[in-house]
Amino acid sequence: MRLAQRVEQLPPYLFARISQLIAQKRAEGVDVISLGIGDPDIPTPDYLLDVLRQATADPANHRYPESDGLPQFRQAIARWYQKRHGVVLDPDKEVVPLIGSKEGIAHLPLCLIDPGDTSLITDPGYPVYEVATMFAGGVTVKVPLREEDGWLPRLDEIPAETARAAKVIWLNYPNNPTGAIADRGFYERAVAWAKQYDVVIAHDLAYADVAYDGYVPMSILEVEGAKDVAIEFNSLSKSFNMTGWRLGMAVGNATLVNALTRVKTNMDSGIPQAIQQMAIAALDDPRDTIDLHNDIYSKRRDRAITVLRQLGLRVEPPKASLYIWARLPEGERSSGEFAARLIDATGVVVTPGASYGTAGEGYIRISLTTPDDRLDEALRRLAVFAQGQPAR
Ligand SMILES: *Cc1c(COP(=O)(O)O)cnc(C)c1O
Repeated sequence: MRLAQRVEQLPPYLFARISQLIAQKRAEGVDVISLGIGDPDIPTPDYLLDVLRQATADPANHRYPESDGLPQFRQAIARWYQKRHGVVLDPDKEVVPLIGSKEGIAHLPLCLIDPGDTSLITDPGYPVYEVATMFAGGVTVKVPLREEDGWLPRLDEIPAETARAAKVIWLNYPNNPTGAIADRGFYERAVAWAKQYDVVIAHDLAYADVAYDGYVPMSILEVEGAKDVAIEFNSLSKSFNMTGWRLGMAVGNATLVNALTRVKTNMDSGIPQAIQQMAIAALDDPRDTIDLHNDIYSKRRDRAITVLRQLGLRVEPPKASLYIWARLPEGERSSGEFAARLIDATGVVVTPGASYGTAGEGYIRISLTTPDDRLDEALRRLAVFAQGQPAR
Protein backbone atom coordinates (compact mmCIF):
# COMPACT_ATOMS: atom_id res chain seq x y z
CA MET A 1 0.00 0.00 0.00
CA ARG A 2 1.28 3.46 -0.83
CA LEU A 3 -0.26 6.35 1.03
CA ALA A 4 -0.56 9.80 -0.52
CA GLN A 5 2.24 12.31 -0.08
CA ARG A 6 -0.04 14.59 1.92
CA VAL A 7 -0.38 11.89 4.54
CA GLU A 8 3.27 10.88 4.45
CA GLN A 9 4.23 14.53 4.96
CA LEU A 10 2.02 15.02 8.02
CA PRO A 11 3.92 15.94 11.16
CA PRO A 12 2.67 14.05 14.22
CA TYR A 13 -0.27 16.13 15.48
CA LEU A 14 1.06 18.22 18.32
CA PHE A 15 -1.40 17.05 20.93
CA ALA A 16 -1.06 13.44 19.86
CA ARG A 17 2.63 13.57 20.79
CA ILE A 18 1.84 15.08 24.16
CA SER A 19 -0.84 12.46 24.73
CA GLN A 20 1.75 9.76 24.10
CA LEU A 21 4.12 11.21 26.66
CA ILE A 22 1.28 11.40 29.18
CA ALA A 23 0.30 7.78 28.53
CA GLN A 24 3.87 6.65 29.06
CA LYS A 25 4.17 8.46 32.40
CA ARG A 26 0.80 7.12 33.57
CA ALA A 27 1.92 3.61 32.69
CA GLU A 28 4.84 4.22 35.05
CA GLY A 29 2.33 5.02 37.81
CA VAL A 30 2.81 8.80 37.83
CA ASP A 31 -0.25 10.92 38.70
CA VAL A 32 0.05 13.13 35.66
CA ILE A 33 -1.65 16.53 35.56
CA SER A 34 -1.90 18.03 32.10
CA LEU A 35 -1.82 21.79 31.69
CA GLY A 36 -1.18 21.11 28.03
CA ILE A 37 -4.49 20.98 26.24
CA GLY A 38 -6.91 23.87 25.67
CA ASP A 39 -10.22 22.12 26.17
CA PRO A 40 -12.50 23.80 28.73
CA ASP A 41 -13.17 21.60 31.76
CA ILE A 42 -16.38 23.34 32.82
CA PRO A 43 -19.51 21.59 31.50
CA THR A 44 -21.82 23.14 28.89
CA PRO A 45 -24.48 25.19 30.74
CA ASP A 46 -27.54 23.16 31.72
CA TYR A 47 -30.13 25.44 30.12
CA LEU A 48 -28.48 24.72 26.76
CA LEU A 49 -28.49 20.97 27.38
CA ASP A 50 -32.25 21.26 28.06
CA VAL A 51 -32.70 22.80 24.61
CA LEU A 52 -30.78 19.87 23.11
CA ARG A 53 -32.84 17.28 25.02
CA GLN A 54 -36.06 18.79 23.70
CA ALA A 55 -34.74 19.15 20.17
CA THR A 56 -33.80 15.47 19.98
CA ALA A 57 -37.51 14.56 20.26
CA ASP A 58 -38.43 16.36 17.03
CA PRO A 59 -38.27 13.94 14.06
CA ALA A 60 -37.37 16.85 11.75
CA ASN A 61 -34.03 16.83 13.56
CA HIS A 62 -33.46 13.15 12.79
CA ARG A 63 -32.94 13.78 9.08
CA TYR A 64 -30.00 15.16 7.10
CA PRO A 65 -29.18 18.73 8.03
CA GLU A 66 -28.22 21.20 5.28
CA SER A 67 -24.49 21.86 4.79
CA ASP A 68 -25.09 25.59 5.17
CA GLY A 69 -26.99 25.17 8.43
CA LEU A 70 -30.46 26.11 9.61
CA PRO A 71 -31.49 29.58 8.38
CA GLN A 72 -32.39 30.30 12.02
CA PHE A 73 -28.81 29.52 13.10
CA ARG A 74 -27.36 31.79 10.40
CA GLN A 75 -29.76 34.51 11.55
CA ALA A 76 -28.76 34.01 15.19
CA ILE A 77 -25.10 34.38 14.17
CA ALA A 78 -25.91 37.63 12.36
CA ARG A 79 -27.82 38.91 15.41
CA TRP A 80 -24.86 37.99 17.64
CA TYR A 81 -22.37 39.85 15.43
CA GLN A 82 -24.64 42.90 15.39
CA LYS A 83 -25.12 42.84 19.17
CA ARG A 84 -21.58 41.86 20.17
CA HIS A 85 -19.48 43.58 17.49
CA GLY A 86 -21.77 46.12 15.83
CA VAL A 87 -21.16 44.27 12.55
CA VAL A 88 -24.06 43.84 10.12
CA LEU A 89 -24.03 40.51 8.24
CA ASP A 90 -26.37 39.14 5.60
CA PRO A 91 -27.29 35.76 7.13
CA ASP A 92 -27.75 34.17 3.70
CA LYS A 93 -24.59 35.47 2.02
CA GLU A 94 -22.07 36.37 4.69
CA VAL A 95 -22.53 33.59 7.25
CA VAL A 96 -21.87 29.85 7.14
CA PRO A 97 -22.06 27.55 10.17
CA LEU A 98 -19.15 25.13 10.59
CA ILE A 99 -18.70 21.77 12.29
CA GLY A 100 -16.42 23.55 14.74
CA SER A 101 -14.29 26.36 13.34
CA LYS A 102 -11.40 23.93 12.78
CA GLU A 103 -13.46 22.31 10.03
CA GLY A 104 -13.77 25.59 8.13
CA ILE A 105 -10.15 26.56 8.76
CA ALA A 106 -9.06 23.23 7.31
CA HIS A 107 -11.31 23.62 4.25
CA LEU A 108 -10.70 27.28 3.40
CA PRO A 109 -7.43 26.56 1.53
CA LEU A 110 -9.44 24.41 -0.91
CA CYS A 111 -11.20 27.67 -1.87
CA LEU A 112 -8.05 29.72 -2.40
CA ILE A 113 -4.98 27.59 -2.94
CA ASP A 114 -4.02 25.93 -6.21
CA PRO A 115 -0.94 23.69 -6.28
CA GLY A 116 2.13 25.84 -5.66
CA ASP A 117 0.22 28.85 -4.27
CA THR A 118 1.39 30.34 -1.00
CA SER A 119 -0.27 31.17 2.31
CA LEU A 120 1.35 33.34 4.93
CA ILE A 121 1.16 31.94 8.44
CA THR A 122 2.56 33.24 11.68
CA ASP A 123 5.30 31.49 13.65
CA PRO A 124 4.36 30.52 16.34
CA GLY A 125 0.81 29.62 15.32
CA TYR A 126 -2.07 27.16 15.47
CA PRO A 127 -0.86 24.12 13.47
CA VAL A 128 -3.97 23.64 11.32
CA TYR A 129 -3.24 26.61 8.99
CA GLU A 130 -0.04 25.02 7.71
CA VAL A 131 -1.33 21.48 7.31
CA ALA A 132 -4.51 22.60 5.54
CA THR A 133 -2.43 24.61 3.07
CA MET A 134 -0.26 21.57 2.41
CA PHE A 135 -3.40 19.42 1.84
CA ALA A 136 -4.46 21.86 -0.87
CA GLY A 137 -1.05 21.55 -2.54
CA GLY A 138 0.11 24.95 -1.35
CA VAL A 139 3.23 26.20 0.34
CA THR A 140 3.37 28.20 3.57
CA VAL A 141 5.67 31.13 4.18
CA LYS A 142 6.19 31.88 7.85
CA VAL A 143 5.97 35.36 9.28
CA PRO A 144 7.81 35.44 12.62
CA LEU A 145 6.17 36.90 15.70
CA ARG A 146 8.28 38.46 18.44
CA GLU A 147 7.68 39.28 22.05
CA GLU A 148 8.99 42.85 21.56
CA ASP A 149 6.21 43.45 19.00
CA GLY A 150 3.51 42.10 21.31
CA TRP A 151 3.45 39.01 19.05
CA LEU A 152 1.98 40.98 16.13
CA PRO A 153 3.51 40.38 12.68
CA ARG A 154 5.57 43.12 11.01
CA LEU A 155 3.48 43.25 7.84
CA ASP A 156 5.59 46.02 6.30
CA GLU A 157 8.67 43.78 6.53
CA ILE A 158 7.13 41.08 4.35
CA PRO A 159 8.94 41.46 1.01
CA ALA A 160 6.63 42.95 -1.65
CA GLU A 161 7.07 39.99 -4.00
CA THR A 162 6.19 37.54 -1.19
CA ALA A 163 3.10 39.59 -0.34
CA ARG A 164 2.01 39.82 -3.99
CA ALA A 165 2.43 36.08 -4.47
CA ALA A 166 0.47 35.14 -1.34
CA LYS A 167 -3.22 34.24 -1.66
CA VAL A 168 -4.06 34.44 2.04
CA ILE A 169 -2.61 35.43 5.40
CA TRP A 170 -3.77 33.74 8.60
CA LEU A 171 -4.13 35.94 11.67
CA ASN A 172 -5.36 34.89 15.10
CA TYR A 173 -6.04 37.34 17.94
CA PRO A 174 -6.53 36.79 20.82
CA ASN A 175 -3.69 34.46 19.95
CA ASN A 176 -3.06 30.80 20.56
CA PRO A 177 -0.41 30.08 21.84
CA THR A 178 0.91 33.49 22.95
CA GLY A 179 -2.25 34.98 24.50
CA ALA A 180 -1.44 38.20 22.63
CA ILE A 181 -4.16 40.64 21.59
CA ALA A 182 -4.51 43.00 18.63
CA ASP A 183 -5.93 46.51 18.70
CA ARG A 184 -7.97 48.37 16.09
CA GLY A 185 -4.87 50.02 14.65
CA PHE A 186 -3.33 46.66 13.86
CA TYR A 187 -6.46 45.40 12.12
CA GLU A 188 -6.69 48.63 10.12
CA ARG A 189 -3.09 48.26 8.97
CA ALA A 190 -3.71 44.60 8.12
CA VAL A 191 -6.76 45.41 5.99
CA ALA A 192 -4.91 48.19 4.14
CA TRP A 193 -1.92 45.89 3.57
CA ALA A 194 -4.19 43.06 2.32
CA LYS A 195 -5.87 45.41 -0.16
CA GLN A 196 -2.54 46.73 -1.38
CA TYR A 197 -1.25 43.24 -2.18
CA ASP A 198 -4.57 41.53 -2.99
CA VAL A 199 -4.25 38.99 -0.18
CA VAL A 200 -7.20 37.46 1.68
CA ILE A 201 -7.16 37.78 5.47
CA ALA A 202 -8.38 34.69 7.29
CA HIS A 203 -8.88 35.85 10.86
CA ASP A 204 -9.29 33.20 13.54
CA LEU A 205 -11.34 34.66 16.40
CA ALA A 206 -11.70 31.45 18.42
CA TYR A 207 -11.08 33.42 21.65
CA ALA A 208 -13.55 36.22 20.86
CA ASP A 209 -15.12 36.02 24.30
CA VAL A 210 -12.41 34.61 26.52
CA ALA A 211 -10.98 37.81 27.98
CA TYR A 212 -10.08 39.34 31.34
CA ASP A 213 -9.73 42.58 33.29
CA GLY A 214 -12.47 44.28 31.26
CA TYR A 215 -10.73 43.74 27.91
CA VAL A 216 -13.18 43.13 25.01
CA PRO A 217 -11.66 41.48 21.89
CA MET A 218 -12.80 42.88 18.55
CA SER A 219 -13.79 41.33 15.24
CA ILE A 220 -11.67 42.31 12.24
CA LEU A 221 -15.00 43.02 10.51
CA GLU A 222 -15.43 46.04 12.79
CA VAL A 223 -12.81 47.74 10.59
CA GLU A 224 -14.16 49.76 7.65
CA GLY A 225 -13.75 47.84 4.40
CA ALA A 226 -12.62 44.59 6.05
CA LYS A 227 -15.40 42.65 4.35
CA ASP A 228 -13.73 43.31 1.00
CA VAL A 229 -10.79 41.08 1.96
CA ALA A 230 -11.54 39.17 5.17
CA ILE A 231 -13.23 36.01 6.32
CA GLU A 232 -13.43 35.44 10.07
CA PHE A 233 -13.69 32.15 11.93
CA ASN A 234 -15.54 32.13 15.21
CA SER A 235 -16.74 29.40 17.51
CA LEU A 236 -18.93 28.57 20.46
CA SER A 237 -16.29 26.12 21.67
CA LYS A 238 -14.26 28.32 23.97
CA SER A 239 -16.87 31.06 24.59
CA PHE A 240 -19.61 28.75 25.84
CA ASN A 241 -17.62 25.65 26.81
CA MET A 242 -19.08 23.70 23.92
CA THR A 243 -16.02 22.11 22.33
CA GLY A 244 -17.71 18.71 22.27
CA TRP A 245 -20.69 19.86 20.22
CA ARG A 246 -18.69 21.20 17.23
CA LEU A 247 -20.26 24.58 16.67
CA GLY A 248 -18.38 27.17 14.66
CA MET A 249 -18.96 29.73 11.94
CA ALA A 250 -17.28 31.63 9.14
CA VAL A 251 -18.46 35.16 8.44
CA GLY A 252 -17.45 38.07 6.25
CA ASN A 253 -16.64 38.36 2.55
CA ALA A 254 -19.57 36.93 0.57
CA THR A 255 -17.43 35.43 -2.22
CA LEU A 256 -15.31 33.53 0.30
CA VAL A 257 -18.31 32.43 2.38
CA ASN A 258 -20.01 31.22 -0.80
CA ALA A 259 -16.90 29.31 -1.94
CA LEU A 260 -16.50 27.67 1.47
CA THR A 261 -20.19 26.73 1.48
CA ARG A 262 -19.83 25.12 -1.95
CA VAL A 263 -16.79 23.12 -0.84
CA LYS A 264 -18.65 22.00 2.27
CA THR A 265 -21.75 20.99 0.30
CA ASN A 266 -19.57 18.50 -1.51
CA MET A 267 -17.97 17.12 1.65
CA ASP A 268 -20.25 17.19 4.65
CA SER A 269 -23.90 17.44 5.57
CA GLY A 270 -23.62 20.06 8.24
CA ILE A 271 -24.13 20.16 11.99
CA PRO A 272 -26.85 17.93 13.53
CA GLN A 273 -29.91 20.16 13.77
CA ALA A 274 -30.64 19.50 17.42
CA ILE A 275 -27.15 20.76 18.20
CA GLN A 276 -27.72 23.85 16.07
CA GLN A 277 -30.78 24.57 18.24
CA MET A 278 -28.46 24.65 21.24
CA ALA A 279 -26.23 27.18 19.49
CA ILE A 280 -29.19 29.41 18.61
CA ALA A 281 -30.23 29.39 22.28
CA ALA A 282 -26.68 30.22 23.41
CA LEU A 283 -26.25 33.15 21.03
CA ASP A 284 -29.71 34.60 21.61
CA ASP A 285 -29.62 34.11 25.38
CA PRO A 286 -26.02 33.83 26.64
CA ARG A 287 -27.08 34.72 30.22
CA ASP A 288 -23.97 35.21 32.35
CA THR A 289 -22.15 32.16 30.96
CA ILE A 290 -19.24 34.06 29.44
CA ASP A 291 -18.59 36.23 32.50
CA LEU A 292 -18.80 33.26 34.87
CA HIS A 293 -16.25 31.29 32.85
CA ASN A 294 -13.89 34.21 32.42
CA ASP A 295 -14.00 34.84 36.15
CA ILE A 296 -12.90 31.25 36.82
CA TYR A 297 -10.13 31.42 34.20
CA SER A 298 -8.78 34.75 35.41
CA LYS A 299 -8.51 33.49 39.00
CA ARG A 300 -6.63 30.44 37.74
CA ARG A 301 -4.44 32.71 35.65
CA ASP A 302 -3.45 34.80 38.65
CA ARG A 303 -2.63 31.78 40.84
CA ALA A 304 -0.58 30.22 38.03
CA ILE A 305 1.37 33.41 37.27
CA THR A 306 2.60 33.59 40.88
CA VAL A 307 4.02 30.07 40.76
CA LEU A 308 5.46 30.39 37.25
CA ARG A 309 7.42 33.41 38.43
CA GLN A 310 8.74 31.37 41.35
CA LEU A 311 10.03 28.92 38.74
CA GLY A 312 11.99 31.75 37.16
CA LEU A 313 9.74 31.96 34.10
CA ARG A 314 9.21 35.47 32.78
CA VAL A 315 5.57 36.07 32.23
CA GLU A 316 2.86 38.75 32.04
CA PRO A 317 -0.80 37.93 32.75
CA PRO A 318 -2.62 37.53 29.39
CA LYS A 319 -5.63 39.78 28.76
CA ALA A 320 -7.37 37.08 26.72
CA SER A 321 -7.26 33.44 25.54
CA LEU A 322 -6.98 30.30 27.63
CA TYR A 323 -3.19 30.39 27.73
CA ILE A 324 -0.25 31.66 29.65
CA TRP A 325 2.81 31.97 27.43
CA ALA A 326 5.90 32.05 29.58
CA ARG A 327 9.51 32.72 28.71
CA LEU A 328 12.05 30.21 29.98
CA PRO A 329 14.40 31.27 32.77
CA GLU A 330 17.70 32.86 31.77
CA GLY A 331 20.12 30.19 30.54
CA GLU A 332 17.42 27.66 29.56
CA ARG A 333 17.40 27.10 25.80
CA SER A 334 15.12 24.23 24.92
CA SER A 335 11.41 24.38 25.69
CA GLY A 336 11.15 20.65 24.98
CA GLU A 337 13.87 19.85 27.50
CA PHE A 338 12.35 22.16 30.09
CA ALA A 339 8.91 20.59 29.66
CA ALA A 340 10.35 17.08 29.84
CA ARG A 341 12.17 17.97 33.06
CA LEU A 342 8.95 19.30 34.59
CA ILE A 343 7.05 16.12 33.71
CA ASP A 344 9.84 14.01 35.12
CA ALA A 345 10.16 15.89 38.39
CA THR A 346 6.53 16.84 39.02
CA GLY A 347 4.22 14.91 36.69
CA VAL A 348 2.94 18.26 35.40
CA VAL A 349 2.57 18.60 31.63
CA VAL A 350 3.12 21.92 29.87
CA THR A 351 3.42 22.47 26.12
CA PRO A 352 6.87 23.33 24.70
CA GLY A 353 6.64 26.55 22.69
CA ALA A 354 8.71 25.02 19.91
CA SER A 355 5.72 22.80 19.05
CA TYR A 356 4.05 25.92 17.61
CA GLY A 357 6.96 26.88 15.36
CA THR A 358 10.63 27.73 15.66
CA ALA A 359 9.81 31.25 16.89
CA GLY A 360 8.03 29.61 19.85
CA GLU A 361 11.31 28.14 21.09
CA GLY A 362 12.29 29.56 24.45
CA TYR A 363 8.71 29.59 25.74
CA ILE A 364 6.20 27.19 27.22
CA ARG A 365 2.41 27.32 27.10
CA ILE A 366 0.14 26.59 30.03
CA SER A 367 -3.57 26.11 29.58
CA LEU A 368 -6.15 27.38 32.10
CA THR A 369 -8.64 24.60 31.38
CA THR A 370 -7.67 22.24 34.18
CA PRO A 371 -10.20 21.89 37.06
CA ASP A 372 -9.34 24.05 40.10
CA ASP A 373 -8.35 21.21 42.45
CA ARG A 374 -6.03 19.65 39.86
CA LEU A 375 -4.57 22.99 38.87
CA ASP A 376 -3.85 23.79 42.50
CA GLU A 377 -2.18 20.41 43.00
CA ALA A 378 -0.06 21.05 39.88
CA LEU A 379 0.87 24.51 41.14
CA ARG A 380 1.73 23.07 44.56
CA ARG A 381 4.13 20.60 42.94
CA LEU A 382 5.66 23.28 40.74
CA ALA A 383 6.16 25.54 43.77
CA VAL A 384 7.97 22.72 45.60
CA PHE A 385 10.06 22.05 42.48
CA ALA A 386 10.93 25.75 42.40
CA GLN A 387 12.47 25.28 45.86
CA GLY A 388 14.75 22.71 44.28
CA GLN A 389 13.13 19.54 45.60
CA PRO A 390 11.53 16.68 43.67
CA ALA A 391 7.79 17.26 43.99
CA ARG A 392 5.95 14.12 43.04
C1 LIG B 1 -9.59 25.88 19.70
C2 LIG B 1 -9.14 26.61 18.48
C3 LIG B 1 -9.81 26.47 17.26
C4 LIG B 1 -10.86 25.42 16.99
O1 LIG B 1 -12.02 25.56 17.63
P1 LIG B 1 -13.30 24.70 17.23
O2 LIG B 1 -14.32 25.71 16.90
O3 LIG B 1 -13.62 23.90 18.44
O4 LIG B 1 -12.97 23.83 16.06
C5 LIG B 1 -9.42 27.25 16.19
N1 LIG B 1 -8.39 28.10 16.30
C6 LIG B 1 -7.70 28.24 17.43
C7 LIG B 1 -6.57 29.18 17.48
C8 LIG B 1 -8.04 27.48 18.55
O5 LIG B 1 -7.29 27.58 19.66
